[in-house]
Amino acid sequence: MADTDTPRPAPPTMPDGGPPGFHLLAKPTGATCNIDCTYCFFLSKDALYPNEKTRMSAATLEAYISQLLESHRTPQVTVAWQGGEPTLMGLDFFRRSVELVEQHRRPGQTVQHTIQTNGLLLDDDWCAFFKERGFLVGLSVDGPRDLHDTYRVDRRGHGTFDLVMRGWQALRRHAVDFNILCTINAANQNHGRAVYRFLRDELGAAWMQFIPIVERATEETIAIANRGWSEQAGRQRLLYTQTGNLVTERTVGGEQYGRFLVDIFEEWIRHDVGRVYVQLFDVTLEAYFGRHLLCIHAPTCGYGPALEHNGDMYACDHFVEPRFRLGNIHETHMLELLASPAQRAFGEDKRDSLTAQCQRCEVRPLCHGGCPKDRFALSRDGDPGHNYLCAGLELFFTHTRPAMQAMARLLQQGRAPSELTAAVAAEDARRGPYAPCPCGSGKKFRFCHGNSAGAGSH
Ligand code: SF4
Ligand code: SF4
Repeated sequence: MADTDTPRPAPPTMPDGGPPGFHLLAKPTGATCNIDCTYCFFLSKDALYPNEKTRMSAATLEAYISQLLESHRTPQVTVAWQGGEPTLMGLDFFRRSVELVEQHRRPGQTVQHTIQTNGLLLDDDWCAFFKERGFLVGLSVDGPRDLHDTYRVDRRGHGTFDLVMRGWQALRRHAVDFNILCTINAANQNHGRAVYRFLRDELGAAWMQFIPIVERATEETIAIANRGWSEQAGRQRLLYTQTGNLVTERTVGGEQYGRFLVDIFEEWIRHDVGRVYVQLFDVTLEAYFGRHLLCIHAPTCGYGPALEHNGDMYACDHFVEPRFRLGNIHETHMLELLASPAQRAFGEDKRDSLTAQCQRCEVRPLCHGGCPKDRFALSRDGDPGHNYLCAGLELFFTHTRPAMQAMARLLQQGRAPSELTAAVAAEDARRGPYAPCPCGSGKKFRFCHGNSAGAGSH
């Protein structure tokens, strides 16, 4: 549906049990992007709005900001921009969004502005603005040049590494807070430590987030899916939906996902606890205290909706498809959409559809079966709807358990988790350099995680 100037609906009250806050991802340019990453199925979502200019209007911007602020009962609210590529809206759009926040913010409400970008348009003007307004910028980088350029390409198929680095330099010049969003895919899946070291040492990233690439397809669509999601003349194109139990050749292997995470975890516990924040490590440690900060590994979900450029709200950024459209915020307040039976069912289905294997799994309190979008494999019992990434998830949560438990004990004693580093070093010394590396690679420790000088296997 198109933007409208209809009066703003009154905010409803979140029913009992609803969250005081939520994390909405707004997509002001819809799926429109200025590059053409091969694995990016979001590019295909412009098929949802054919013949529409996918740019958020002033009216939708105001409806979004005002409803978001009046919906929250928490003192902290996050205004999160995502894409497509949000910087295509131009700087004035974001200046206006900050003005609107100041206009609609309630006394005592603090607002964190975040934006996820491919970095291509970032220059001194953008970065001065981000710094002045305290934006947290997420920059998408998949590792060193050759790994990054495998899939993160422009419309002519050329790698974007140099252009992204130009944006990164602008962020650094202005000392903007940034985190790196790195996908784990078929190209970099065996190079965890090299990717991690590059982000830490070359980019100076103190905050990282790793996201598995899982692109689903069916027997009928796999050939087209393998060719990518961008629009090209004379080529058949699909609207990506979460269907099918095949995966594209760019998709990370289930077990490799876990091996990648273990690879960087073993580096992190030796050198970086308390210095580098890796999202999954942090949320896993929190899960030992029963707190689930990431929807993917929480028992239920449904509080991370996506907002399209025209005010359409969807159950989740990964389910921007017609059957998961909740409504439009110009017609129904976003809180009402979030509290709707359809959205509650979406979130609770995550818990209610666990396979028997998940239900009896030892690491279920940490994993909770992962994201429903990835549940299209068969379990060991032959049940459908099991997580495609299970082998990797089980490996990661099992492997990290002793170290996580040790860090949790330190926290309970009021001590810093980084004290673990000394214990790990003592254990390494006791074991010796020629014993098998504890990461499970099969290599000798000295030539694997005991080698802090090289860049690992890459
Ligand atoms: S579907 Fe997955 S990504 Fe979306 S809210 Fe649920 S767990 Fe999170
Ligand atoms: S590790 Fe596998 S079996 Fe265990 S909860 Fe996660 S997805 Fe289910």
